[in-house]
Amino acid sequence: MLNLEDLDSDQRVAATAPRGPVCILAGAGTGKTRTITYRIAHLIEQGFVSPNRVLAVTFTSRAAGEMRHRLNLMGVGGVQARTFHAAARRQLRYFWPQVAGDLPWRLLDNKFPLIGRAARAVGVGSETENIRDLLSEIEWAKASLISADQYPEAIIRTDRTPPVPAEKVAEVYRRYEQAKTTPDGMMLDFDDLLIHTAGALEHSPAVAEEFREQYRTFVVDEYQDVTPLQQRVLQAWLGERDDLTVVGDANQTIYSFTGASPDHLLNFSRTYENATVVKLQRDYRSTPQITDLANTVIGKATGRVAGTRLELIGMRPPGPQPTFNAYDDEPTEAREVAGQILNLLDQGTPASEIAVLYRINAQSAVFEQALADAGITFQVRGGEGFFNRNEVKQAISELVRAAARDDLPQEAVGPQLHRLVRAILAPMGLTPTEPEGAQARERWQSLNALVELVEELGQASPDLNLNMLLKQLRERADAKHPPTVEGVTLASLHAAKGLEWDAVFLVGLVENTLPISHAIKAGDHQIEEERRLFYVGVTRAREHLHCSWSFARQEGGRKSRKRTRFLDGVVPEPDITQVPPRSVRPKRCRNCGQPLDSATSKVLGRCEDCGSDADEGIFEELRSWRSEMAREMQVPAYIVFTDATLMAVAEAMPTTETELLDISGIGPVKVEKYGTELLRLLAELQ
Ligand code: ATP
Ligand code: MG
Repeated sequence: MLNLEDLDSDQRVAATAPRGPVCILAGAGTGKTRTITYRIAHLIEQGFVSPNRVLAVTFTSRAAGEMRHRLNLMGVGGVQARTFHAAARRQLRYFWPQVAGDLPWRLLDNKFPLIGRAARAVGVGSETENIRDLLSEIEWAKASLISADQYPEAIIRTDRTPPVPAEKVAEVYRRYEQAKTTPDGMMLDFDDLLIHTAGALEHSPAVAEEFREQYRTFVVDEYQDVTPLQQRVLQAWLGERDDLTVVGDANQTIYSFTGASPDHLLNFSRTYENATVVKLQRDYRSTPQITDLANTVIGKATGRVAGTRLELIGMRPPGPQPTFNAYDDEPTEAREVAGQILNLLDQGTPASEIAVLYRINAQSAVFEQALADAGITFQVRGGEGFFNRNEVKQAISELVRAAARDDLPQEAVGPQLHRLVRAILAPMGLTPTEPEGAQARERWQSLNALVELVEELGQASPDLNLNMLLKQLRERADAKHPPTVEGVTLASLHAAKGLEWDAVFLVGLVENTLPISHAIKAGDHQIEEERRLFYVGVTRAREHLHCSWSFARQEGGRKSRKRTRFLDGVVPEPDITQVPPRSVRPKRCRNCGQPLDSATSKVLGRCEDCGSDADEGIFEELRSWRSEMAREMQVPAYIVFTDATLMAVAEAMPTTETELLDISGIGPVKVEKYGTELLRLLAELQ
């Protein structure tokens, strides 16, 4: 239910302002997204607008799903929350016949072949790299409302370096646009969806009237990253009206390279002189230790946007200081991060509350490897997507089949529905506890995540039965809003926008990666954007923040890398190199004295193949005890204890809580949860 007491007084001003222009200009974690969600709920609850007349625009479809979910929990259903693209696509599909008659169109989701052909015809290099550059250049131009003819002149006024001479880019652009119209109809790329939507509203009074009758209230999140094209669509939606709420943080502008600009956000009160403008400074997400670092990082910004500085005030109780670690090489960095993640898991931090963030997607590989080696489940954001996984698709087909069977209790709701779903999925591999073996385990985790989603949906609507459930799952799948799989998130800094985790690892913080090399070449403007990207990274963490980098790419490689400039004057360099990485862990094997490198070997305090002095039988007993605990607490087994920790327990055979705490990876939280039981079991096994 909607409770305005959940907001502070400034947030409440924005949430309860009358219909009309509202702008929230505020830093990371100050509750902007939360406030607009409450504002929508409030406007609806007070009867100012009905849910189906509200259009909320978010930056990603995941954020849109999240907003609908939060509104549902407050008892508000039926609000359209979408990205600009998804909203435009829907509208265009509806209005197309009115503006284009029966001319067929289809979505062009892969521009690569068309641009490749155009590049070859123009005689510029058609290597993959080059086509990709041409493609982003054309996307930038379209998002900036620059036509092929205008391109050569427009490019002079920017600090962009075209991948090939501007005239040639323009020619490729022109040919690409022409190639999309064929005798069988039109192909529209993602930007065309926006262009045609705006065009339909601008040029057809009938379309505009029908649309404006339908949608009255508009809300835009992450408005600092709006492109001129998106702004034009927004303007076409609004017409002469002004029922618009925007929220954003100029310091988090991280998509300028696509044509986005914070100008519309910063000029909002000039555009709408009667606007309610609210500034928020209290950061509810992060500890003061983290907001201090964030303030220092962004305090060093230079240039235009820097003038919009807002100091964050951390509202959470104090927490640990952020850490800064330098490593010899990337694989070592990745293993150390995996080791620290094991520590967090052992201390009770859920895996879904941990993220490893990097500048470019290619950096994920070495971390994926290290996490897999350490037996840590993870998901790579920007991967295939939950509802696209084979096992999830199969599971949903099973549920559809079950919904047609008259020997099943179709009206089951609540716990009965959950049991029914579990029973239907059991033959697919949903065993009561997590199985061994990587593949079976991954499958199990997906199925289990699906069941958890069912339970969550059931809590939100207690009368949910199988048929209604299927409808909701389908909606989720369309919105690509997967349930949170109980795993560590690996994501790029761009993809982490708007999200938050208890623990965040910012990795690979070296020059030429952050800032990225092409930004360094392009100059100050783009370097500042990279600084903001770092700021976005820092402000994703609630409590634990670990920054790291490494001097060589490969083990034994040349140590030619330098720490990112964004830490200059933030953390003194000598301090860092003196900090030994996690001195708490034994670094050499206690049997043979060899240095330990894998995360697992560090937990064990010995090489993995150096032989264990533990009793096999005791280890097996501990494992079955763990399965029981996991079942009881309804968590995956590794959340209770990892295999490596259990092995370390079997080797040390602790008899007191203090001895338990001595085992690497067992913290006070684990002792409190499992200590008594575990010690009793060990005493029996002695
Ligand atoms: P970003 O700039 O990163 O998008 P944001 O300003 O949108 O951040 P939110 O995600 O809305 O911030 O909020 C950050 C966190 O603080 C969330 O966990 C939210 O639930 C919490 N929060 C926001 N406002 C309050 C409040 N008044 N009381 C308690 N918690 C709050
Ligand atoms: Mg937000």
